[in-house]
Amino acid sequence: MHGWRETADGVEVRTADGTSVKADALIGADGVWSAVRQQLLGDAPARFTGHLAYRALVAQADLPAHLRSDQVTVWMGPRLHVVHYPVRSGQWLNLVAIVHGSKPDQAQEWDQAGHTQALMQAMGAVGRDLHERLASVPDWRRWALHDRAPMAGPHEMVQGRVALLGDAAHPMRPYLAQGAGMAIEDAQAFAQSLSAGDATVAEQLQTYAEQRWARNARVQARAIRNGRIFHATGPVAWGRNLSMRLLGERVMDVPWLYSGGPIAGSPSTFRDFSS
Ligand SMILES: Cc1cc2nc3c(=O)[nH]c(=O)nc-3n(C[C@H](O)[C@H](O)[C@H](O)COP(=O)(O)OP(=O)(O)OC[C@H]3O[C@@H](n4cnc5c(N)ncnc54)[C@H](O)[C@@H]3O)c2cc1C
Repeated sequence: MHGWRETADGVEVRTADGTSVKADALIGADGVWSAVRQQLLGDAPARFTGHLAYRALVAQADLPAHLRSDQVTVWMGPRLHVVHYPVRSGQWLNLVAIVHGSKPDQAQEWDQAGHTQALMQAMGAVGRDLHERLASVPDWRRWALHDRAPMAGPHEMVQGRVALLGDAAHPMRPYLAQGAGMAIEDAQAFAQSLSAGDATVAEQLQTYAEQRWARNARVQARAIRNGRIFHATGPVAWGRNLSMRLLGERVMDVPWLYSGGPIAGSPSTFRDFSS
Protein backbone atom coordinates (compact mmCIF):
# COMPACT_ATOMS: atom_id res chain seq x y z
CA MET A 1 0.00 0.00 0.00
CA HIS A 2 1.34 3.39 -0.98
CA GLY A 3 -1.21 5.59 0.75
CA TRP A 4 -4.89 6.35 1.11
CA ARG A 5 -7.32 9.24 1.48
CA GLU A 6 -10.86 9.48 2.71
CA THR A 7 -13.37 10.74 0.16
CA ALA A 8 -16.95 11.94 0.68
CA ASP A 9 -18.35 8.42 0.43
CA GLY A 10 -15.46 6.06 1.10
CA VAL A 11 -11.71 5.51 1.05
CA GLU A 12 -9.39 5.53 -1.95
CA VAL A 13 -6.26 3.39 -1.59
CA ARG A 14 -3.20 3.64 -3.83
CA THR A 15 -1.15 0.47 -4.11
CA ALA A 16 2.61 0.37 -4.68
CA ASP A 17 2.13 -0.36 -8.39
CA GLY A 18 0.00 2.76 -8.81
CA THR A 19 -3.39 1.04 -8.84
CA SER A 20 -6.23 2.96 -7.19
CA VAL A 21 -8.90 1.04 -5.25
CA LYS A 22 -12.10 2.55 -3.85
CA ALA A 23 -13.98 1.02 -0.94
CA ASP A 24 -16.39 1.86 1.88
CA ALA A 25 -13.67 1.43 4.49
CA LEU A 26 -10.00 0.54 4.92
CA ILE A 27 -8.90 -2.07 7.46
CA GLY A 28 -5.22 -2.05 8.37
CA ALA A 29 -4.44 -5.62 9.45
CA ASP A 30 -0.85 -5.18 8.33
CA GLY A 31 1.02 -6.12 11.48
CA VAL A 32 3.43 -4.45 13.87
CA TRP A 33 5.03 -2.28 11.15
CA SER A 34 1.63 -1.21 9.77
CA ALA A 35 1.74 1.36 6.98
CA VAL A 36 -1.96 2.07 7.52
CA ARG A 37 -1.27 2.94 11.16
CA GLN A 38 1.62 5.15 10.20
CA GLN A 39 -0.61 7.30 8.03
CA LEU A 40 -3.60 7.12 10.42
CA LEU A 41 -1.85 7.95 13.70
CA GLY A 42 1.58 9.17 12.62
CA ASP A 43 3.08 7.90 15.86
CA ALA A 44 6.56 6.49 16.48
CA PRO A 45 7.37 2.97 15.28
CA ALA A 46 6.82 0.07 17.67
CA ARG A 47 9.41 0.06 20.46
CA PHE A 48 12.13 -2.54 20.95
CA THR A 49 11.37 -4.36 24.20
CA GLY A 50 14.98 -5.28 24.95
CA HIS A 51 13.99 -8.92 24.58
CA LEU A 52 15.08 -11.40 21.93
CA ALA A 53 13.14 -14.55 21.09
CA TYR A 54 15.17 -17.55 19.94
CA ARG A 55 12.92 -20.10 18.26
CA ALA A 56 13.51 -23.65 17.05
CA LEU A 57 11.74 -26.80 15.94
CA VAL A 58 13.45 -30.09 16.72
CA ALA A 59 12.44 -33.60 15.73
CA GLN A 60 11.91 -35.48 18.99
CA ALA A 61 13.47 -38.56 17.39
CA ASP A 62 16.74 -36.61 17.14
CA LEU A 63 16.77 -35.90 20.87
CA PRO A 64 18.10 -38.24 23.54
CA ALA A 65 15.18 -39.97 25.29
CA HIS A 66 15.45 -37.89 28.48
CA LEU A 67 15.04 -34.61 26.53
CA ARG A 68 11.87 -35.64 24.69
CA SER A 69 8.68 -34.11 26.07
CA ASP A 70 4.93 -34.48 25.68
CA GLN A 71 4.16 -31.53 27.95
CA VAL A 72 3.81 -27.80 27.65
CA THR A 73 6.72 -26.64 29.81
CA VAL A 74 7.73 -23.17 30.97
CA TRP A 75 11.10 -22.44 32.57
CA MET A 76 11.57 -19.12 34.32
CA GLY A 77 14.75 -17.50 35.55
CA PRO A 78 16.55 -14.18 35.95
CA ARG A 79 16.03 -12.13 32.76
CA LEU A 80 14.87 -15.16 30.75
CA HIS A 81 12.20 -17.72 30.20
CA VAL A 82 11.86 -20.73 27.94
CA VAL A 83 8.71 -22.39 26.65
CA HIS A 84 8.61 -25.74 24.86
CA TYR A 85 5.79 -27.94 23.76
CA PRO A 86 5.16 -30.84 21.38
CA VAL A 87 3.68 -30.17 17.94
CA ARG A 88 2.71 -32.32 14.94
CA SER A 89 1.24 -35.17 17.05
CA GLY A 90 4.25 -35.01 19.34
CA GLN A 91 6.82 -35.73 16.62
CA TRP A 92 8.44 -32.31 16.94
CA LEU A 93 9.29 -30.06 19.86
CA ASN A 94 8.75 -26.33 19.47
CA LEU A 95 11.06 -24.21 21.64
CA VAL A 96 11.06 -20.49 22.34
CA ALA A 97 13.76 -19.00 24.56
CA ILE A 98 13.40 -15.33 25.53
CA VAL A 99 16.47 -13.45 26.76
CA HIS A 100 17.41 -9.82 27.29
CA GLY A 101 19.74 -8.28 24.71
CA SER A 102 20.54 -5.23 22.65
CA LYS A 103 18.70 -4.23 19.51
CA PRO A 104 20.15 -6.09 16.54
CA ASP A 105 20.73 -4.60 13.10
CA GLN A 106 17.64 -5.03 10.92
CA ALA A 107 15.54 -5.27 14.06
CA GLN A 108 12.33 -5.48 12.01
CA GLU A 109 13.48 -8.80 10.50
CA TRP A 110 11.67 -11.54 12.41
CA ASP A 111 13.60 -14.50 11.05
CA GLN A 112 17.31 -13.87 11.61
CA ALA A 113 19.80 -16.66 12.20
CA GLY A 114 20.41 -17.18 15.91
CA HIS A 115 23.43 -18.95 17.33
CA THR A 116 23.38 -21.36 20.24
CA GLN A 117 26.54 -19.82 21.67
CA ALA A 118 25.00 -16.32 21.72
CA LEU A 119 21.85 -17.69 23.34
CA MET A 120 23.83 -19.49 26.02
CA GLN A 121 25.88 -16.37 26.68
CA ALA A 122 22.74 -14.27 27.08
CA MET A 123 21.22 -16.86 29.43
CA GLY A 124 24.14 -17.09 31.82
CA ALA A 125 24.22 -20.02 34.23
CA VAL A 126 21.19 -22.29 33.99
CA GLY A 127 20.56 -25.77 35.34
CA ARG A 128 21.99 -28.81 33.54
CA ASP A 129 18.65 -30.06 32.21
CA LEU A 130 17.76 -26.77 30.53
CA HIS A 131 21.31 -26.19 29.32
CA GLU A 132 21.41 -29.61 27.72
CA ARG A 133 18.01 -29.10 26.12
CA LEU A 134 18.97 -25.79 24.53
CA ALA A 135 22.45 -26.91 23.56
CA SER A 136 20.92 -29.86 21.68
CA VAL A 137 19.24 -27.51 19.19
CA PRO A 138 21.29 -27.21 16.00
CA ASP A 139 19.57 -24.20 14.43
CA TRP A 140 17.88 -21.20 16.08
CA ARG A 141 15.97 -18.33 14.49
CA ARG A 142 16.14 -14.98 16.30
CA TRP A 143 13.33 -12.42 16.55
CA ALA A 144 13.76 -9.02 18.22
CA LEU A 145 10.49 -8.40 20.08
CA HIS A 146 8.67 -5.09 19.69
CA ASP A 147 5.49 -3.80 21.27
CA ARG A 148 3.62 -0.60 22.06
CA ALA A 149 2.33 0.89 25.29
CA PRO A 150 -1.21 -0.30 26.06
CA MET A 151 -3.82 1.48 23.97
CA ALA A 152 -5.17 4.72 25.41
CA GLY A 153 -8.54 4.90 23.66
CA PRO A 154 -10.71 3.90 20.69
CA HIS A 155 -9.07 6.58 18.52
CA GLU A 156 -6.04 4.24 18.31
CA MET A 157 -8.21 1.65 16.52
CA VAL A 158 -10.52 3.72 14.34
CA GLN A 159 -10.75 7.15 12.82
CA GLY A 160 -13.49 7.85 10.31
CA ARG A 161 -13.59 5.04 7.78
CA VAL A 162 -10.19 3.62 8.62
CA ALA A 163 -9.71 0.87 11.22
CA LEU A 164 -6.76 -1.06 12.61
CA LEU A 165 -6.90 -4.71 13.60
CA GLY A 166 -4.49 -7.07 15.39
CA ASP A 167 -0.83 -6.14 15.80
CA ALA A 168 -1.32 -3.01 13.68
CA ALA A 169 -3.42 -1.65 16.55
CA HIS A 170 -1.99 -3.32 19.65
CA PRO A 171 1.30 -5.21 19.23
CA MET A 172 2.06 -6.95 22.49
CA ARG A 173 4.74 -9.05 24.14
CA PRO A 174 4.03 -12.74 23.64
CA TYR A 175 4.04 -13.53 27.40
CA LEU A 176 0.33 -14.12 27.58
CA ALA A 177 0.24 -15.87 24.18
CA GLN A 178 -2.59 -13.59 23.08
CA GLY A 179 -1.46 -11.48 20.10
CA ALA A 180 -3.11 -13.69 17.49
CA GLY A 181 -5.98 -14.43 19.87
CA MET A 182 -6.77 -10.73 20.19
CA ALA A 183 -6.50 -10.29 16.41
CA ILE A 184 -9.09 -13.04 15.97
CA GLU A 185 -11.35 -11.47 18.58
CA ASP A 186 -10.97 -8.13 16.78
CA ALA A 187 -12.05 -9.78 13.54
CA GLN A 188 -15.12 -11.31 15.18
CA ALA A 189 -16.15 -7.99 16.76
CA PHE A 190 -15.50 -6.22 13.48
CA ALA A 191 -17.75 -8.60 11.54
CA GLN A 192 -20.50 -8.15 14.13
CA SER A 193 -20.25 -4.35 14.03
CA LEU A 194 -20.58 -4.35 10.25
CA SER A 195 -23.86 -6.20 10.45
CA ALA A 196 -25.38 -3.54 12.76
CA GLY A 197 -28.62 -2.34 11.10
CA ASP A 198 -28.98 1.30 10.12
CA ALA A 199 -25.60 2.61 11.25
CA THR A 200 -23.25 4.34 8.84
CA VAL A 201 -19.92 2.70 8.04
CA ALA A 202 -18.09 5.18 10.28
CA GLU A 203 -20.51 4.43 13.13
CA GLN A 204 -20.06 0.69 12.64
CA LEU A 205 -16.30 1.07 12.82
CA GLN A 206 -16.59 3.24 15.90
CA THR A 207 -18.69 0.53 17.60
CA TYR A 208 -15.91 -1.96 16.83
CA ALA A 209 -13.28 0.31 18.38
CA GLU A 210 -15.38 0.99 21.49
CA GLN A 211 -15.90 -2.73 21.99
CA ARG A 212 -12.30 -3.76 21.58
CA TRP A 213 -9.82 -1.14 22.73
CA ALA A 214 -10.04 -1.57 26.52
CA ARG A 215 -9.73 -5.36 26.43
CA ASN A 216 -6.77 -5.12 24.07
CA ALA A 217 -5.14 -2.54 26.37
CA ARG A 218 -5.66 -4.80 29.37
CA VAL A 219 -4.10 -7.77 27.60
CA GLN A 220 -1.14 -5.64 26.47
CA ALA A 221 -0.57 -4.52 30.07
CA ARG A 222 -0.91 -8.03 31.46
CA ALA A 223 1.60 -9.36 28.92
CA ILE A 224 4.16 -6.76 30.09
CA ARG A 225 3.49 -7.71 33.72
CA ASN A 226 3.86 -11.42 32.95
CA GLY A 227 7.27 -10.75 31.41
CA ARG A 228 8.41 -8.97 34.59
CA ILE A 229 7.27 -11.90 36.72
CA PHE A 230 8.73 -14.54 34.40
CA HIS A 231 12.13 -12.79 34.35
CA ALA A 232 12.17 -11.68 37.99
CA THR A 233 15.04 -11.88 40.46
CA GLY A 234 15.10 -11.62 44.26
CA PRO A 235 11.91 -11.53 46.35
CA VAL A 236 9.60 -11.37 43.33
CA ALA A 237 11.14 -14.55 41.92
CA TRP A 238 10.85 -16.19 45.33
CA GLY A 239 7.13 -15.27 45.56
CA ARG A 240 6.55 -16.47 42.01
CA ASN A 241 8.16 -19.83 42.69
CA LEU A 242 6.18 -20.28 45.89
CA SER A 243 2.89 -19.47 44.10
CA MET A 244 3.70 -21.98 41.39
CA ARG A 245 4.41 -24.68 43.96
CA LEU A 246 1.21 -23.96 45.85
CA LEU A 247 -1.15 -23.36 42.93
CA GLY A 248 0.39 -25.36 40.08
CA GLU A 249 -0.99 -24.53 36.65
CA ARG A 250 -3.84 -22.52 38.21
CA VAL A 251 -1.32 -19.73 38.72
CA MET A 252 -1.39 -19.15 34.95
CA ASP A 253 -5.15 -18.87 34.74
CA VAL A 254 -6.59 -15.44 33.91
CA PRO A 255 -10.37 -15.78 34.38
CA TRP A 256 -11.27 -12.38 32.91
CA LEU A 257 -9.34 -13.31 29.78
CA TYR A 258 -10.46 -16.86 29.25
CA SER A 259 -13.90 -16.27 30.81
CA GLY A 260 -14.00 -19.69 32.40
CA GLY A 261 -12.25 -21.89 34.90
CA PRO A 262 -8.66 -23.11 34.81
CA ILE A 263 -7.16 -23.76 31.40
CA ALA A 264 -8.26 -27.13 30.10
CA GLY A 265 -6.24 -29.28 27.78
CA SER A 266 -2.77 -30.68 27.68
CA PRO A 267 -0.74 -31.23 30.83
CA SER A 268 1.70 -28.46 31.69
CA THR A 269 4.79 -28.13 33.84
CA PHE A 270 6.34 -25.06 35.43
CA ARG A 271 9.97 -25.27 36.36
CA ASP A 272 12.30 -22.91 38.10
CA PHE A 273 16.02 -23.32 38.35
CA SER A 274 16.05 -24.01 42.07
CA SER A 275 14.15 -27.29 41.73
C1 LIG B 1 7.77 -15.29 19.65
C2 LIG B 1 6.29 -15.03 19.51
C3 LIG B 1 5.37 -15.96 19.97
C4 LIG B 1 4.00 -15.71 19.85
N1 LIG B 1 3.11 -16.62 20.34
C5 LIG B 1 1.79 -16.37 20.28
C6 LIG B 1 0.86 -17.31 20.81
O1 LIG B 1 1.23 -18.35 21.35
N2 LIG B 1 -0.47 -17.01 20.72
C7 LIG B 1 -0.91 -15.88 20.13
O2 LIG B 1 -2.14 -15.64 20.09
N3 LIG B 1 -0.05 -14.96 19.60
C8 LIG B 1 1.28 -15.19 19.67
N4 LIG B 1 2.17 -14.30 19.13
C9 LIG B 1 1.66 -13.06 18.54
C10 LIG B 1 1.15 -13.26 17.13
O3 LIG B 1 2.15 -13.84 16.31
C11 LIG B 1 0.74 -11.92 16.53
O4 LIG B 1 0.03 -11.16 17.48
C12 LIG B 1 -0.15 -12.13 15.31
O5 LIG B 1 0.59 -12.76 14.30
C13 LIG B 1 -0.69 -10.80 14.80
O6 LIG B 1 -1.48 -11.05 13.68
P1 LIG B 1 -1.76 -9.89 12.64
O7 LIG B 1 -2.58 -10.54 11.56
O8 LIG B 1 -2.29 -8.70 13.32
O9 LIG B 1 -0.33 -9.47 12.09
P2 LIG B 1 0.72 -10.35 11.24
O10 LIG B 1 0.65 -11.78 11.61
O11 LIG B 1 2.03 -9.64 11.37
O12 LIG B 1 0.17 -10.22 9.76
C14 LIG B 1 0.26 -9.00 9.05
C15 LIG B 1 0.35 -9.34 7.58
O13 LIG B 1 0.29 -8.12 6.83
C16 LIG B 1 1.24 -8.21 5.79
N5 LIG B 1 1.58 -6.84 5.38
C17 LIG B 1 2.27 -5.91 6.07
N6 LIG B 1 2.38 -4.77 5.36
C18 LIG B 1 1.74 -4.99 4.20
C19 LIG B 1 1.51 -4.19 3.03
N7 LIG B 1 1.93 -2.92 2.94
N8 LIG B 1 0.83 -4.74 2.01
C20 LIG B 1 0.38 -6.02 2.09
N9 LIG B 1 0.56 -6.82 3.16
C21 LIG B 1 1.25 -6.29 4.19
C22 LIG B 1 2.41 -8.95 6.41
O14 LIG B 1 3.24 -9.51 5.42
C23 LIG B 1 1.68 -10.01 7.21
O15 LIG B 1 1.40 -11.15 6.44
C24 LIG B 1 3.54 -14.52 19.24
C25 LIG B 1 4.47 -13.59 18.74
C26 LIG B 1 5.84 -13.83 18.90
C27 LIG B 1 6.81 -12.80 18.38
